Amino acid sequence: MNIILIGIQGSGKGTQAKILENRFGWEHITTGDLFRKNIEQETELGLLAKEYIDKGELVPDKYVFEIVKNALNQAEKGFILDGFPRNIEQLKFLVKNFEIDSVILLDLTDDKAIERLMARRICKICKKDYNILFKKSKKPGICDVCEGEIIRRDDDNKEAISKRIEKFHNETKKVIEYFTEKNLLIHINADQSLEAIHEEIVKKLSV
Ligand code: AMP
Repeated sequence: MNIILIGIQGSGKGTQAKILENRFGWEHITTGDLFRKNIEQETELGLLAKEYIDKGELVPDKYVFEIVKNALNQAEKGFILDGFPRNIEQLKFLVKNFEIDSVILLDLTDDKAIERLMARRICKICKKDYNILFKKSKKPGICDVCEGEIIRRDDDNKEAISKRIEKFHNETKKVIEYFTEKNLLIHINADQSLEAIHEEIVKKLSV
């Protein structure tokens, strides 16, 4: 099955993708991660993309298409696409070259997303992630793994979060409209437990 997964930061998108990948073998393909891997390995594409990523800009489509096409063609059992498409050109490229079975939209209000992201914490030393609402450390402020100090990330302040949310809406609006028209969009309530979200996805995909 070929799926596009759309969800605001804080909606649990990454977690849901991982659960689906483990259960059904559909490959979780995240363009952001593909670029980060290329940067780490210092590939030519990675070096080209880094310039844009460091400035917080979208990487030009020709580089994105190259990376996406390779990854999707290798996903034999299907894919869960995350972070792509982010504009109309990318959308056109995708539907021209690949069959999309369903588009899952994890519904979460902006206020809920802000609340969750403001509650995110990370260990300063080992980078393990926590959340003071639903993923607490055993001892407050101290990492369970390495006893390091647990802090809030610099970019998890309200202003930066609001900016990221606005960007998300701008990038996904047309994609959501397009797949709604095609009758492929599935709404999932992301304001429930991880297990309940997963079960709702499975039920609505009829798998
Ligand atoms: P992300 O982890 O999804 O926020 O992606 C990190 C960065 O990678 C973005 O800020 C962009 O610079 C780049 N990127 C990821 N996906 C795309 C895409 N579909 N189109 C263009 N640039 C992308």
